[in-house]
Amino acid sequence: MAFAMLFALSLAFLFVAYCMARALIGGFGANFATIALSAVATAASSIFLWWLTPLADFAEIFWVHVPADRRARRGQCPHCGYPHESRATCCECGRATAPLPAWTLSARPVKRMAAILVPAFLLGCVAGEAWSLLDESRFAAEHNHANESVRAHYTRPRAFPATFARMWADESSELHSEPWPDFARDRRWTPKDSALRERGLGWRERASTP
Ligand SMILES: [Zn+2]
Repeated sequence: MAFAMLFALSLAFLFVAYCMARALIGGFGANFATIALSAVATAASSIFLWWLTPLADFAEIFWVHVPADRRARRGQCPHCGYPHESRATCCECGRATAPLPAWTLSARPVKRMAAILVPAFLLGCVAGEAWSLLDESRFAAEHNHANESVRAHYTRPRAFPATFARMWADESSELHSEPWPDFARDRRWTPKDSALRERGLGWRERASTP
């Protein structure tokens, strides 16, 4: 249960990381360099997931350590719950009645986390690449079916989770993709009318001129 949730969370995180890395790198379509760079960026972003390593030992903490501590506080054997009456070994189960050592981060949860993260990483990269390619092929189809009047400047943002990036077509029907392509252009653009400029208006006119 905890493993499945950890896997699903890691997979979702890595999928989003891959899609965003690919859109940030820019360029339309897949090639080896783009995929490799996106995968490296995704692997780097997984550093946040390693903080969740103790969750890989969730079952031990909640089913072994927490009940053992509760029994030890009540003067019971931490293993079976039989009252130990200050004896060093339990006369019910024969094990030591000393409280369990506290849970520490050992190699076991790290190995478990690696066993969760490696397949989540591979699956996240494959799903992210497939999602990005699907989005690009949909954009190419939309561009093909677009009206002649808008075709030369056909553009739309990428699909979630990379909506900050924009795909566009130029006059020679070449397709492009770039992160935040309009921001610099918008900042440079100012309306010709000084009265509008002072009031920060004129954006609507700008949007209707190509
Ligand atoms: Zn016992």
